[in-house]
Amino acid sequence: MDVIDLRSDTVTRPTTAMRAAMLAAEVGDDVYGEDPTVNALQQRLADDLGFDAGLFVPSGTQSNLLALLAHCERGDEYLVGMDAHTYKFEGGGAAVLGSIQPQPIMQAADGSLPLERIEAAIKPVDPHFARTRVLALENTWHGRTLPLDYLTAAHDVARSHGLGLHLDGARLYNAAVACGVPAREIARHFDTVSICLSKGLGAPVGSVLVGSHALIDKARRWRKVTGGGWRQAGILAAGCLHALDHHVARLAEDHHRAAYLAGRLREIGGINLLGQYTNMVFIDVPAARLRELDAHLKEAGIRISIGYLPTLRLVTHLDVDDAGIERTADAFAAFFRQH
Ligand SMILES: *Cc1c(COP(=O)(O)O)cnc(C)c1O
Repeated sequence: MDVIDLRSDTVTRPTTAMRAAMLAAEVGDDVYGEDPTVNALQQRLADDLGFDAGLFVPSGTQSNLLALLAHCERGDEYLVGMDAHTYKFEGGGAAVLGSIQPQPIMQAADGSLPLERIEAAIKPVDPHFARTRVLALENTWHGRTLPLDYLTAAHDVARSHGLGLHLDGARLYNAAVACGVPAREIARHFDTVSICLSKGLGAPVGSVLVGSHALIDKARRWRKVTGGGWRQAGILAAGCLHALDHHVARLAEDHHRAAYLAGRLREIGGINLLGQYTNMVFIDVPAARLRELDAHLKEAGIRISIGYLPTLRLVTHLDVDDAGIERTADAFAAFFRQH
């Protein structure tokens, strides 16, 4: 039985065609800037998104960290959502490694940072305070897309205070596909954007940070300092280029499947559908039944993650097809029928 893994879109495995592209990659030593496939990937994303340059790194966590290290000096701060990945799920890296203070801001339900909270959090220039330097947003956030007019407004507020803007665009292409705009239409509001190729796009490894020559040069130095300089990484970059060529438009299928799954789950007594956004479905189930549900789904070859009781997040991706969604919905229905 095929296992249907709905824990995250990070679980995708490279397709046969992607593996072939990786096998055929031309490579060189990237620390010398001589890997042609890495260079092609970096330039491809920089051009697509409207920036000077790109930097290929192993993870989104490192990409966000390098962006903050490039924007900020010791004693600076960044404004960031209290539930943002860059604040909450990256081990406090900017503080640990950069002496950069986060200023978390309570997000609105749609994932935006309300403009008045941003303005209120910006510190005066005064030796008592850290220097507020950057506004960091996330799109998509828990699957939600930030409204395009919000991006314009947030950009204007940040600029009026002389702040830089960074986007954690781990799922930027999901946002672009869902909003029906080219990704650069979202990216253009920012000085740096981090993109994960290893999520719904289906590459095995890799993120790219894009920005100006000046910011990317700084980020490249910090990549080396943090042990991220790599050599014949073109084998990985080839997988990422393949993903950009073949797996962007199809993200719409993941969104449709998530919407269909949400519709099926909504009909099941015992499940409270909290929402569906792009490739993510959020449900509440009675906490007392959670372990039993998990075991039942495991029997049916379905993996979910039950980290945060009692809310479950189900994520669709490249390795989940229509039949997998049907099987998932049927397994949930059977469980709640029995109980
Ligand atoms: C996954 C993710 C990251 C970090 O990516 P890793 O490659 O797992 O380090 C950053 N931001 C968001 C929103 C993510 O979902």
